Amino acid sequence: MSILVTRSSMPDLDEYLKMIESIFTSRWLTNMGPLHQELQKQVSDFLQVPYVSLFVNGHSALEIAYQALDFPEGSEVITTPFTFVSTVNAIVRSGLKPVFCDIKNDDYTLDPAKIENLINENTVAISPVHVYGNVCDVEAIEDIANRYNLKIIYDSAHAFGVQYKGKGIGSFGDISMFSFHATKVFHTIEGGCLTFRDKNLVNIFDRLKDFGLDSSADVSYFAGNAKMDEFRAAMGLCNIKNIDEYIKNRKLAYERYDEKLENISGLQLNKEQKLVKKNYAYYPVCVNPNKFGKSRDEILDRLASRGIFGRKYFYPAINDMKVYINTYGSSNTPIAKSISKNIMCLPLYDGISVNQVDNICDLILG
Ligand SMILES: *Cc1c(COP(=O)(O)O)cnc(C)c1O
Repeated sequence: MSILVTRSSMPDLDEYLKMIESIFTSRWLTNMGPLHQELQKQVSDFLQVPYVSLFVNGHSALEIAYQALDFPEGSEVITTPFTFVSTVNAIVRSGLKPVFCDIKNDDYTLDPAKIENLINENTVAISPVHVYGNVCDVEAIEDIANRYNLKIIYDSAHAFGVQYKGKGIGSFGDISMFSFHATKVFHTIEGGCLTFRDKNLVNIFDRLKDFGLDSSADVSYFAGNAKMDEFRAAMGLCNIKNIDEYIKNRKLAYERYDEKLENISGLQLNKEQKLVKKNYAYYPVCVNPNKFGKSRDEILDRLASRGIFGRKYFYPAINDMKVYINTYGSSNTPIAKSISKNIMCLPLYDGISVNQVDNICDLILG
């Protein structure tokens, strides 16, 4: 059987069946039902954030974050080209202009030293990404945002359960988005949430995910539909019960990769960050083909020939993708350009065995 880059964590079937039993009695299938409300509460406790709003998926949540902040059309948002395309598509689809800032060489997050040069009178926000669950330089970014009066919208899709200095990662910035897609550390099949500190946003997000309807059935926003249903909330309630075990299993595999691959010339492993509690979401390795003797693509081909599939996360850089390259291109973000050409994510999920990891490492090193 082949080994893919990821595999969804699943509760026991009985556990899920028990969780959805009440839905068959109540026939309350969606529209902020009891399971939705319970999950929202449990996610806010687990993430240690003041407010959580659940959504049908992470991408819609991100677009709704921009809609709520209501920036003037064409305003600029500083973001990273080294991410999943959703981060940047959400900016464009919200009528805003992405401005690409380069990343750091070691943890692949936005380089705060390069942000200020990109700020002008049209800049309204910064949207950094805790890529692979690596924590952005949250203090430096907050300092810049405060000085220039900018909002911070974190894409925390990879960072469920990550803590920095003992605080939930979703408590930094104005709004953070977490994805609960099936491939993420915590999932609701499809789903996502926004975390935030401003109480006023609770009601705004409730309306923006439900056609703009308010309690008197009047409508004050051009909003669509982005509600999470009860069956997905039930999956979330099962998975959040097991989340510590899922993360522990990932940690075992992650640390085995570390043991096998550390101190190999030409392989750059993910940077250890101080004061960070990790979630072991991904295992990125950046290959220097001259030093290692094989390129990233050669390694991935070799693994694929044995039915093992790593992924080129993230390649190409977003500013080199077809829809962006003519306007942008990666020449202003040389680090992101070079990392994206040499980085790969190795298979990592709850349930991959130490033996399988050994096998993968032997193939890479052999
Ligand atoms: C998964 C992901 C998203 C999108 O989340 P969905 O829940 O799939 O809509 C956005 N940004 C990043 C970085 C992601 O990895």
